[in-house]
This record gives sequence, structure tokens and C-alpha cells, in this order.
Amino acid sequence: MAEKTKGQEMLESLSYQKQNYYEAADEQERAAIYAYAEGYKAFLNAAKTEREACAVAVKMAEEKGFTRYELGDKLKKGDKKYFVNRGKSVVVFRIGEKDLEEDGIRLIASHIDAPRLDIKQNPLYEDGNMCFLKTHYYGGIKKYQWTAIPLALHGTVVLKDGRSVEIRVGEDMGDPVFCIDDLLPHLGREQMSAGAAKVIEGEQLNVVVGGLPYADKEVKEKIKLTVLSLLHEKYGMNEEDFLSAELSAVPAFPARDLGFDRALIGAYGHDDRVCAYPALTALLEGKSAHTVMALLVDKEEIGSEGTTGMQCAVYADLMEEIALAFGANFRKVRARSKCLSSDVTAAFDPNFAGVYEKMNAAMLSCGTCMNKFTGSGGKSGSNDASAEFIGEVRRMFAEGGVVWQTAELGKVDAGGGGTVAKYLSKLNIDTVDLGVPVLSMHAPYEVISKADLYSNYKAFLAFMK
Ligand code: MN
Ligand code: MN
Repeated sequence: MAEKTKGQEMLESLSYQKQNYYEAADEQERAAIYAYAEGYKAFLNAAKTEREACAVAVKMAEEKGFTRYELGDKLKKGDKKYFVNRGKSVVVFRIGEKDLEEDGIRLIASHIDAPRLDIKQNPLYEDGNMCFLKTHYYGGIKKYQWTAIPLALHGTVVLKDGRSVEIRVGEDMGDPVFCIDDLLPHLGREQMSAGAAKVIEGEQLNVVVGGLPYADKEVKEKIKLTVLSLLHEKYGMNEEDFLSAELSAVPAFPARDLGFDRALIGAYGHDDRVCAYPALTALLEGKSAHTVMALLVDKEEIGSEGTTGMQCAVYADLMEEIALAFGANFRKVRARSKCLSSDVTAAFDPNFAGVYEKMNAAMLSCGTCMNKFTGSGGKSGSNDASAEFIGEVRRMFAEGGVVWQTAELGKVDAGGGGTVAKYLSKLNIDTVDLGVPVLSMHAPYEVISKADLYSNYKAFLAFMK
């Protein structure tokens, strides 16, 4: 090999370039990247709603010796605990050896809800020899993407007598599925000239759930009666029980490897399970002298509201309980705490290159991506992490051998977004956004790179170490 010139050496030592993690990884590391993705796909398939993700997380935590914590319980150093909030969000934590007032808590905050179609409270009707369920979409979706794909129904019904019944239909190959119909192109002239937001309107997102008339000539809505009779037979529910139900239609297809080389994964709900799963596994498997906490929260897609969203006081209450248990001043604990707000970001998409600024776009497979700020229109509504804190996290990642990158969500003034970072930083906790780049975010079928998933996991291990 020819010797490097002085200029080449200078360039290498002074300039910065993103690395493709697949290229940077040796054979062993690449095998680890692929192996880790298997567990993740299984998690995705088992956890399509926040309730399911919460239940799976609890199971995984218990298998690793973590036990349930309720507010007010006693705590001691070395404890491995999980706290469930109303079955929809879960906080997993380990109490470390270090002094809480000096070292604070290392937090990773991610969310386990995902865009979907929620069934209305009075949803069931018959028309055109079919039976439908009316929906109201949850989170920011392109409505036209949700027609003509197989859907599954997931959720909980609280019956008149107070009993809760779980519903999950459309996931097993033997199950029936559901769908929202779309117009044939032959009659779509007017539809096709509408703006994309109007191609399918909210009140057209009605899920087909039946087509068999009940065998009784005296009854009017026979198909609806068939559906009601089946719901009663299987779940003991009446039509009135929809009033106290939380049912969602989600894509019925499982997570699968994508591409000849299996480098990517196509699935519903990467946002934000692609951060929640690494946060959970890193916390369950890692060892650390720090007190560490993984928050898997609900309602991020609708503004982190309600009792299970990040804005609820329960998460700060839990941190305060930990401080109190060791006689620590909670204000000091918060001031010393550090947080990775872990949510997905937009991967550069060459088919829509115009909305990105390539130098500051998240590139697929270049590792988990830090967003110093989010927001829109001049960083408005953003946490905007400090150079000092980013410097600190950067050193942790360097020590952990993490391949990572930074980005903005799209080019300046193209749009914007934000997640839970601002609610954590409000507590006086240094926080920065970090997460996996996603293609087709919020579509029924999103795409991520296995390399970025594994990089995210390694970043969390380094952060909690
Ligand atoms: Mn998200
Ligand atoms: Mn989202």
C-alpha cells in the first residue's frame, strides 16, 4: 500500500464523516446485529398495543428477577423493580450503589403506543350486506394508507359486571382478519383528484367485520345480529359493552426481514418500540453502579396526555419515592439525573430527498441518531440539549464503541415534530433525544435497519454503564 500523504493524514485526523455501521462492524459484530433483531421481531409481534407491550415487558422483567413495585414500597440498594401504571405504561428500574444526590438517576424514556385506528364507543352498524365498526384514528396518520390491508383487532372490554375481557383477533394464521375497503380505480376519477388528506376521510375509516345474515326472517339487521351473537358467545359482551371498551384496529401482518440481505426490518409500530425494546433489554441485562430507569410510556402519539402519558405526575412521583427511600433530597437527585429521550427520527429517503438536508439527515444504518433539538419553525417547542450534556453523552458512546450519528428532522422549515424530551427536561433533568431512523414513519408498515436497532441498544448500555 502506498504511504499516505501529509494532506491525506491531515484530512483523516481533522474531518468528520458518518460511518455505515454495517461497514464498521466486524463479522462477529454483524452476527450480533442480526441475532439481536430476532428478539426484537418477536417483541413487535407480541406487543402491538401499549397494553400488550406493557404485559410483555413485565414478563421479560420477571424472567430477569425483577419484582413488582408499588408507590410507598420499601427499597434497598441493588433492588431490581418494575412499576406498572394502569396496565398501559411501565417503568423498569435498578437501584445502584452510587449516592443518589451525587449521581442522580440515568433515565431512558421511550413510548409504547403507536398510531392506529381506535374503535368508536358506539361503533357497530350494517350496510350493503356487510357489518362495520366505526373508528377514530389515533395519532398522526395518512388515512389513505390504512385501507385495503389486513387488520387485526386488539383491546380490552370492560363488561357490565366489571369483568375485563381481552380481545386479540387476526394475528394467528387461523384467525379471520378485518379491513377497510377502498374505491376501485374505475370509479375513482373524482377521488383521485382530491388532495391526499381527502382521498379517504376520517368517517370512511370503517372496518368490515361481517357478512353472514342471522337465520331469522323476523329480524331486521341480520348481519349485525350475527356479529353480536358471535361477540356474545366468545367474549360474553353485548353491544352496550362497546361503551366501556378500548379496541384498536392495527395491521395484521407480522414483523419480517426486508431485503435480499435481510439488513432491514419491515413492521408495524417500530415507532417507538424500536427504542422501547433496546431500553428494556439494556436495563434488564446491563450491570451498573448507577440507579437506572427505563420508562415505557403511553399516549406519546397524542401529546403525552392523560394518566399514562409522560406529562402525568406519576413518573416524577416514582423518582421522588426512590429519593425518599434513601433519604436523598429529590431536587438534588433531579439536578444530577440524565436522560435519553428515546424516540425515532426520520431516515433520509432518496425518493423524497427534497424535504431533507442531507448533511444533517439521519442516514439508514449509520447508527442510532441524536437530535440535539426537535420542534419546528426556528426550534420552537424544542428541548435543545446543551453542548456540555451532548459532550458528556458523546464520551460515553465513545467508551462503549457506539457507532452513532446526529440529525435534524427534515430541512429547516419543512415541518417538524417533537416527543417527550421537554417533559423530562422540565423536571430539571439534562435530556437529549436519541433514537432509530425510520422510513415511512407512522405508516402501517415502517422500515428500520437492524444495525441502527443494535446501535441503539449499545448506546443505552453505554449510557447506563
Ligand atoms: Mn415516537
Ligand atoms: Mn410517532
